[in-house]
Amino acid sequence: MARYTGSVCRLCRRENIKLFLKGDRCYSDKCAFDRRGYIPGEHGQRRGRKISDYGIQLREKQKIKRIYGLTEKQFRLFFQRADQKKGVTGTNLLVMLECRLDNTVFRLGFANSRNQARHFVRHGHFTVNGRRVDIPSYLVKVGDVIEVREKSRKIQSLADALDAVVRRGVPQWLELEKENMKGVVKSLPEREDLTMPMQEQLVVELYSK
Ligand code: SF4
Repeated sequence: MARYTGSVCRLCRRENIKLFLKGDRCYSDKCAFDRRGYIPGEHGQRRGRKISDYGIQLREKQKIKRIYGLTEKQFRLFFQRADQKKGVTGTNLLVMLECRLDNTVFRLGFANSRNQARHFVRHGHFTVNGRRVDIPSYLVKVGDVIEVREKSRKIQSLADALDAVVRRGVPQWLELEKENMKGVVKSLPEREDLTMPMQEQLVVELYSK
């Protein structure tokens, strides 16, 4: 299925949680979820809806997929790779999603949202260990050094994002050298590092049917 191109705020309202897909706007009083925190559409405000187990699992999968901005096909591929790895599939899945280059760029504060981070990566604004990488799904490893390319350092939106990172903070598995526009992967993320409420086990149950 093609990438969703509609209003991302509708996705937050659909999942009934702030997914923080719009950068600064998510922290402002313009946030659509804060203003209209009900499901979009004609029946969005209907109360007392019953939701099946399948529905709960589906919504959780949709939520995680939307947080990381993946298509169904990309998400399923990640799940298959996570399933083939040793350990708990759900945790593997989240750790792999977290290690995507676009997510890492966002976490380091070089972009205001994952969407913007993906855009920056695709346009080749970053190097990993000195080599230009323009693949958002590239998985970073411990010790990788992610750097803004010399010619991209003057991009205003990138500098603005770096200034705003203070509000979000950089997770402990990453280290940011703000003045050098550079970040290092100190360790792989742990499950506890992921603060968004996500029940990955429900995704495993859904895909195991
Ligand atoms: Fe979601 Fe951000 Fe839109 Fe609020 S502003 S509804 S958090 S994408």
